[in-house]
Amino acid sequence: MTRLKHPLPLIDKLGRPLRDLRISVTDRCNFRCTYCMPREMFGAEYAFLPHKEILSFEEITLIAKSFVDCGVQKIRLTGGEPLLRRDIDRLVSQLAEIPHIDLSLTTNGSLLGKRARALKDAGLQRITVSLDALDAPTFKRMNDADYPVSRVLEGIEAADTVGLGPIKVNAVIQQGVNEHAILELAQHFRGTPHIVRFIEYMDVGSTNGWNLDQVVPSKKIIDRISAQFPLESLQPLYQGEVAQRWRYLDGQGEVGVISSVTQAFCSACSRLRLSTDGHLFTCLFAQKGHDMRTLLRGTPSISEGDLRAWIEKKWGARDDRYSEIRTTETAKQQKIEMSYIGG
Ligand code: SAM
Ligand code: SF4
Ligand code: SF4
Repeated sequence: MTRLKHPLPLIDKLGRPLRDLRISVTDRCNFRCTYCMPREMFGAEYAFLPHKEILSFEEITLIAKSFVDCGVQKIRLTGGEPLLRRDIDRLVSQLAEIPHIDLSLTTNGSLLGKRARALKDAGLQRITVSLDALDAPTFKRMNDADYPVSRVLEGIEAADTVGLGPIKVNAVIQQGVNEHAILELAQHFRGTPHIVRFIEYMDVGSTNGWNLDQVVPSKKIIDRISAQFPLESLQPLYQGEVAQRWRYLDGQGEVGVISSVTQAFCSACSRLRLSTDGHLFTCLFAQKGHDMRTLLRGTPSISEGDLRAWIEKKWGARDDRYSEIRTTETAKQQKIEMSYIGG
């Protein structure tokens, strides 16, 4: 089949194009961030997905190709912790063969020092590293695991050295927990090409005990940085960009904020998420996914054309806009965990 460079995107019920696919490659993680996989819920007894239920690299690649044929231009690997998936660089090299896509990965950085070179060689283009604090007690308090923060910083350096930079550094800010990290992180990465993006704490999943008082509004984050290092806002680089961009007036680089709670961006949301076991979610806050694994594993297995038609139908029926209609009541609803559908 001849492939167009960028096929016309599918359009959902609210007129939004399909552009991004996030693929969770594992539901496991070596961290237990309190806002994502609190240890009380994800302890030794927690039943992670058995191997046979997880999509194989071949299945993921087939699905990814179908999405690209439906207009997807960006693919991000995530999890859980994607670097825990064995031979992840083999999956990266399979996906990197799909023409004209932007291929990236989000990691907690703990294993990145050792893996950066292989990922780059496999064809990974960009990387995002999560880092919520620079001081040991806060770092440990937030991720509830025994990894020194220096290991994440070494991971960022290694990724930069092999050519995966400039790196985006994601920091979830929680009221009363790591507000002090706002200035420390900004200062640490000022003067480098790396961009720290401060994320408002969200009510994803049903286990983190979220409440609105724990959210630090992005406006407050920007005001705080700007009081020390004056900032001016920048235009988005493309339509639907999730982070709002700001630059230091003295030319020392950029920061970003992701205002998922205080300034919802559902009206431009072009993302789909594929869970580790092959369920498709049209919203991060969905309560239910659509099973693609059964479609792939059926006999006879689904044809490329039927798979595309299935995707068209699912995107065409999409009307999600959870962040625009969030209330304290919706926050209590049973939702899918982020470590399973991928952040
Ligand atoms: N383990 C990888 C990591 O931490 O980068 C990838 C998966 S993680 C679920 C993806 C992103 O989601 C991370 O940047 C993390 O900080 C963010 N995240 C997780 N739970 C969140 C929450 N409740 N609110 C806001 N961001 C959250
Ligand atoms: Fe693991 Fe990432 Fe969730 Fe932290 S945010 S528990 S590192 S999946
Ligand atoms: Fe997209 Fe759902 Fe988030 Fe809105 S709440 S931006 S629709 S994922």
